[in-house]
Amino acid sequence: MKTTTSHRRISARTPKTSRISGNGNGRAPAKRPALAISSGIASWLAGPKQNLIGGKWVPAASHKTFDVFNPAEASVIAQVADGDKEDISRAVVAARRAFESGPWHRLTTSERGKLIWRIGDLILQHADELAEIESLDNGKPRAVARAADVPLAADLFHYMAGWATKIEGNTIPISVPYAAGARFHAFTLREPVGVIGQIIPWNFPLLMAAWKLGPALAAGNCVVLKPAEQTPLSALRLGELIIEAGVPEGVVNIVTGFGETAGAALAAHPDVDKIAFTGSTEVGKIIVRAAAGNLKKVSLELGGKSPNIVFKDAGDLDAAIAGAANAIFFNHGQCCCAGSRLMVERDIFDEVVNGVAEQAKKIKLGPGLSPDTEMGPLVSEEQLSRVTKYMHQGKQEGACYVTGGTRAGNRGYFVQPTVVKDVKPGMSIVREEIFGPVVVAEPFTKPEELIPRANQTEYGLAAGVWTRDIAKAHRIAAELRAGTVWINCYNVFDAALPFGGYKQSGWGREMGHEALELYTQTKAVVVGL
Ligand code: NDP
Repeated sequence: MKTTTSHRRISARTPKTSRISGNGNGRAPAKRPALAISSGIASWLAGPKQNLIGGKWVPAASHKTFDVFNPAEASVIAQVADGDKEDISRAVVAARRAFESGPWHRLTTSERGKLIWRIGDLILQHADELAEIESLDNGKPRAVARAADVPLAADLFHYMAGWATKIEGNTIPISVPYAAGARFHAFTLREPVGVIGQIIPWNFPLLMAAWKLGPALAAGNCVVLKPAEQTPLSALRLGELIIEAGVPEGVVNIVTGFGETAGAALAAHPDVDKIAFTGSTEVGKIIVRAAAGNLKKVSLELGGKSPNIVFKDAGDLDAAIAGAANAIFFNHGQCCCAGSRLMVERDIFDEVVNGVAEQAKKIKLGPGLSPDTEMGPLVSEEQLSRVTKYMHQGKQEGACYVTGGTRAGNRGYFVQPTVVKDVKPGMSIVREEIFGPVVVAEPFTKPEELIPRANQTEYGLAAGVWTRDIAKAHRIAAELRAGTVWINCYNVFDAALPFGGYKQSGWGREMGHEALELYTQTKAVVVGL
């Protein structure tokens, strides 16, 4: 049958014509060497990129595909299946069959744990190629993907593998006031939820797949995973490794496609028991509404506008400045927990803000595959448009740009690392999630004004505190309304550490043993004796 290729669309939520503000004359990324894609990845990219359904790689039911771009070049690197409602339905049928009658639930928990462990091992064995795929597809420096994304993904599977044998219920002494003299043996079982739909974003494509799949599998569920349209490639390679690990067919299904078609169909599907979503708060609300049809369980990891607070008693100010720069510029600011509001005690405000700006100026922009690149492009033209629109708005609203503030170069989706001061609480760049390398800096003087301002956001994902006063650090951490507080550090993640949001930053916690709560349900069993 004929295959048609649909062009990647600009989301319905953004203007169709994505005008790039800024004149493109900003500090350009380093002169581009020809991209050194390894021959192995080049031939893998050239092969068909299909959906994984019921253990088989199959084209989209419509036989349509869509283009996947290298954001450093704005060039097409692959075509993947354009899955939609029909493909989601087929994947859900496969997952249901695997859950109800396949070999998955007959495996012992030890066997299940070993399979999950093997996925982690295979990720490590293929770490170089996964890092290259991630860098090409998302734009992040290959060295960063190799040092952070890939090992963290492997570690997540290894950590969750251990939990497969440790998901336990309780025995509960019961009294039953209306059954005088009767005796019972009561206990609880923690059982898998069933068929899980998982929708992930583009900022950490492999790692987000791991965060979702690891606990779902450890708890015995079957999954339909939909990667982001911008970055589907590492999830597809992971699917190949999952098959190689020996995970039975239908346990993990992967459907590539667009949010408004495949994603929406998954969120609304009547035979999906739970949906797990990471992405924008806006789409999170759409997911909640879609899930209402069959009241499927929902967990959400959403946006953030995280305060990073530097006190004058931070001690090693250089470390605090480097930490503040890392908090916003890591992953090009495309982090839900980015420290995008830098709050600095007034006495050291200029020193810290200028220090972060100096760090910003030194960051070497370039394609992710160049070995000396420190910051790659944003993920897509849509994201470039969004970030430069905010930069423009900030200027119009009267903010002062200490450094950056425009697109960098004319090719690819690069922007300058940007530091902004003289901001007011009502400005869009202060209130809204930009999801780019843009930090707004505000001074504070009194601690009593600090906390209400730090918490003055609809989000509550993360926060940073820099001080050597240990009592103050704990007091502030307790008062911040955020799911994670880093003290004298930032962006510290571990498979054992729960991550998630207060307020409109989400529902539930990923990673750690708390993630298992999302993927299990409790059954009470009572035996009359
Ligand atoms: P989205 O929230 O649109 O995308 C996240 C995931 O949701 C993707 O897989 C997307 O699919 C899917 N999706 C989109 N619409 C629907 C829908 N109606 N039903 C079901 N699934 C859907 O984020 P964007 O990519 O549009 O990014 C926009 C902004 O969102 C960013 O600038 C940032 O502020 C925020 N964001 C936050 C993230 C986080 O980690 N908290 C991650 C990514 C973005 P597809 O991509 O195929 O359309």
